[in-house]
Amino acid sequence: MTFKELGLNEQVLEALDYMGFEKATPIQEGAIPFILNGKDLIACAQTGTGKTAAFVLPILHKLTGKKDTSINTLIVVPTRELAIQIEQEIQGLSYFVSVGSIAIYGGGSGQDWEIQKKALKEGTDILVATPGKLLSLLQMGYADFSKFEHLILDEADKMLDMGFTDDLEKIISYLPKKRQTLLFSATMPTKIRTLAEKILVAPEQITLSISKPAAGVSQNVFLCYDNQKNALLKHILDSRPEYTSIIIFTSSKIKVSEIVRDLRKFGFKSQGVSSNLDQEQREEALRGFRSKRTRILVATDVMSRGIDIKEINMVINYDCPRDAEDYVHRIGRTARANTKGEAYTLVNEKDMPKLSRIEQLIEAEIPKNTIPEALGSGPAYNPKSKGSGSPKKKNFRKKPSSNNNQTAKPVSKAN
Ligand code: AMP
Repeated sequence: MTFKELGLNEQVLEALDYMGFEKATPIQEGAIPFILNGKDLIACAQTGTGKTAAFVLPILHKLTGKKDTSINTLIVVPTRELAIQIEQEIQGLSYFVSVGSIAIYGGGSGQDWEIQKKALKEGTDILVATPGKLLSLLQMGYADFSKFEHLILDEADKMLDMGFTDDLEKIISYLPKKRQTLLFSATMPTKIRTLAEKILVAPEQITLSISKPAAGVSQNVFLCYDNQKNALLKHILDSRPEYTSIIIFTSSKIKVSEIVRDLRKFGFKSQGVSSNLDQEQREEALRGFRSKRTRILVATDVMSRGIDIKEINMVINYDCPRDAEDYVHRIGRTARANTKGEAYTLVNEKDMPKLSRIEQLIEAEIPKNTIPEALGSGPAYNPKSKGSGSPKKKNFRKKPSSNNNQTAKPVSKAN
């Protein structure tokens, strides 16, 4: 369906043309008519589906020609990276509409904070904010909601997982009851339904196939021991010299620095990004990666959601994410907006049950690759494995009681 058929005005259509968006994605086709009609909405959609534009476009349509100077729309998001990214998308899509927007998030410098406060006092149409920072602003009485119309909660499941439930309820208590509320979430656990019942009125619902990786991602697993992972990483990276943008995910912040150190030893240009870095360092790392100055970004799950960097060729999971949903988010960084991408997951014995949960969630078996012979043999797949990440301790035969002189020898030599 074209955006014109969705009834968006000329200014918005012009911006879409400028952005190169030709056809609406399914979430846009589903959500835009409800939002234009003033309905509350629960939308279950992952990142990569075009969900940001699904709520930004109808809001821009409604704001076209309005001249208020107080906050019209509040978009609450879990992370500062997502806040910045959504605000940038608003700027692109509002190129021909006179709309002001600002992103407010924690972790910036004192100067950022002053700019954000000033912008708020002077008034802005769309505020994109993380919950903690927003709440402190509201408590200081800086925000004017007298002409408020739209509340959007994006990645609501992530916000609840991050412990923002109370903050969200407090934020909502500052907002006028008469408003349109849109809730976007990648998953719909009971706690999201409960939140939705509290804050939405007679909502429409849209569910896009939940928790399915984009069709363009080719997925693969290597079953291996921890001490084979670095060599395996090198093997995968060496086999794809043509790839210019690669993300390696790991669940631990410490591992980020270790992997970067090892990659650099192998001669691969790489940069780590985790919550250990301050805001400016994280942005600089992302800028380097976006502009392809850095070929490989090593990141924790903070980066697995929402972050939109185009043309990522490959995602490598150095370990299985704790949460099966995060697997879908991690590999969703590649093959965005209908392109193709590759994903490799390195799975040790300890992570095999996690792999099995991922396969259940995505309702598909992920091909298990054999590791190159030169690296030895990896563990066999056992979804109920209780093993660790290391090869089994060498087994020693009990000394036969009849031959006390014989020294014990290992019977199996696992790699
Ligand atoms: P999102 O799910 O909002 O993170 O969007 C994923 C990516 O798709 C972003 O880079 C958007 O700019 C892009 N995108 C969104 N809508 C469209 C569309 N209709 N056509 C092409 N690309 C789109």
